[in-house]
Amino acid sequence: MSWELAPVQIVKYPHPTLRHKSKPLRRIDSGLKQMVDEMLDLMYAHKGIGLAANQVDLPYRLIVMNAQSDPKAKQDEHVLINPVVLQQKGGTEEKEEGCLSFPELYAPVRRPVTVVVGAYDLSGLEVNLELSGLHARAVQHECDHLDGVLFIDRLSPANFLKVKRDLEDMELAFSGQQQRGQIPEDRLIAARLSALEVART
Ligand code: ZN
Repeated sequence: MSWELAPVQIVKYPHPTLRHKSKPLRRIDSGLKQMVDEMLDLMYAHKGIGLAANQVDLPYRLIVMNAQSDPKAKQDEHVLINPVVLQQKGGTEEKEEGCLSFPELYAPVRRPVTVVVGAYDLSGLEVNLELSGLHARAVQHECDHLDGVLFIDRLSPANFLKVKRDLEDMELAFSGQQQRGQIPEDRLIAARLSALEVART
């Protein structure tokens, strides 16, 4: 599918792909490896610590992460295919979170401190990771994306009220871009996702 050859770009709230619940990937090939490379490049270019496939308009269960946001810190670079949070432990904590699909928006989110995640890496090997602190926060945030869940969905009512106006501004900007044809109509976005899903999930 030629759509896969286009370079990936980060989509911003409220792009409908951010609400797409992705299906598991069925195979790993050079096309997927190229998507991963582009996602890593984008994440580092934007100083992000994680990026999910939905955020680059792809309907796959795939995330990239590096809690240091440093391409040289390879020990913290993770490419997780079909990741699943298997276990949560160590209580919860509330910390400020941001998202590359919500530029300049930050808000506190309560999440478990430690999680065990199961996934496949790019060579198709099963991996099990126990992550804590920022690493755990990042992987939970990114796994949420794959289910179409955004960090704004996890805010307390009081914290949600604080960002409501900013979200409305983003919604207005997005519909303006759609009306001007800079972003495709929702039905075209959905048709593209379905075609990409048929190819890989
Ligand atoms: Zn995010």
